[in-house]
Amino acid sequence: MSDLCKNSLSIYVHFPFCKRKCTYCDFASYQGMEHLIPAYMNALQDEIKSRSMSLNGKKISTVYFGGGTPTYPDPLFIRKIMGLLHELFDFSMCQEATLEANPGTLTPQSLKIYQSTGFNRLSIGLQSVNDHELKKIGRIHRFEDFTGSFKHAREAGFDNISADLIFGFPWQTFVDWRNSVDTLLNLNPEHISCYDLILEEGTPLYRHIKNGQYTEMSDVLNRQMYDYLLETLKKAGYKHYEISNFAKPGYESKHNMNYWKTGDYIGFGAGAHSYINYVRSCNTDDILEYISKVKEQGGAVVESEAIDFIGRMSEFAMLGFRLTDGIDLKEFKERFEVNFMDYYREKIEGLLKKELIIFSENKICLTRKGLDYANLVFMEFI
Ligand code: SF4
Repeated sequence: MSDLCKNSLSIYVHFPFCKRKCTYCDFASYQGMEHLIPAYMNALQDEIKSRSMSLNGKKISTVYFGGGTPTYPDPLFIRKIMGLLHELFDFSMCQEATLEANPGTLTPQSLKIYQSTGFNRLSIGLQSVNDHELKKIGRIHRFEDFTGSFKHAREAGFDNISADLIFGFPWQTFVDWRNSVDTLLNLNPEHISCYDLILEEGTPLYRHIKNGQYTEMSDVLNRQMYDYLLETLKKAGYKHYEISNFAKPGYESKHNMNYWKTGDYIGFGAGAHSYINYVRSCNTDDILEYISKVKEQGGAVVESEAIDFIGRMSEFAMLGFRLTDGIDLKEFKERFEVNFMDYYREKIEGLLKKELIIFSENKICLTRKGLDYANLVFMEFI
């Protein structure tokens, strides 16, 4: 790693408030807790001040405000938090500042504030272009809200916009999915994330499937949708660089690349995770507990684990396989002073035999079949 990489740090800031909880969502996000926003923002500032003291000398490479819906509270709160980060950290090498946003919470005025606050990338949760689907999953927006937000974002100066789509909803047809992919492409975003739905226990959607209201999508249809996505985005000039992520050249998410390359990051806010100097930790995701813990002790970490050397190699391998470029064997050797093939020979030979991975020059990556069965590959490194 270069000196910059060794000293660099990504920052994540979490805003756990949403106007309405979506039916598939199990993130740390809450509806009906708006009365806690001012106290939460105060706690967030206190946590940032308190934890920044131990991070002198780190240069910030990327910053990401996520949620929840960071664009739901007053944009001036966001400006205040970003201002504080700039006061306390060295942003001279910062390459990317992303704001997660939901259509229905953006206005031309708020977008101008976010732009002038220093965000140079927007990640907008679209999920589908079909209003009947948006309604079923409990989103607060219709497709026309997204197109309005997208247009206003461009007018405000955002030239790096990502949009998220989800496939795998039980009612979703191939035509629904094709319509979402094709319609989004017409808007020409720089980056597209497409997630295969994970049915999370405890969500309303999970219950609807368990009580028979819906039937889970078949694997065959699910893979047809993924195939269509890969072919269509490739033709449109997007690089498929991670299992679920596609970018125009040069627009890969630098913040997420840092996660996949196991770089250091600090997370502020309820439910935020950190990984610094080989220690992984997470804050409580309970907003009230977060506020009171920060008041008492300046932080709200409830779990932490030191990752040993073997664990670090495994994580690097597992996350490396998420990237379509795969694991660079030279980089692995430089980082760990261990020969990847010597250490993992048996596992790699097994996966090669199953045609889930393939060598490509000095790299090893998932095959097309491996993309469909990526979990089998990851499991080898857990
Ligand atoms: S907007 Fe995002 S974070 Fe909020 S409930 Fe919906 S999926 Fe969850």
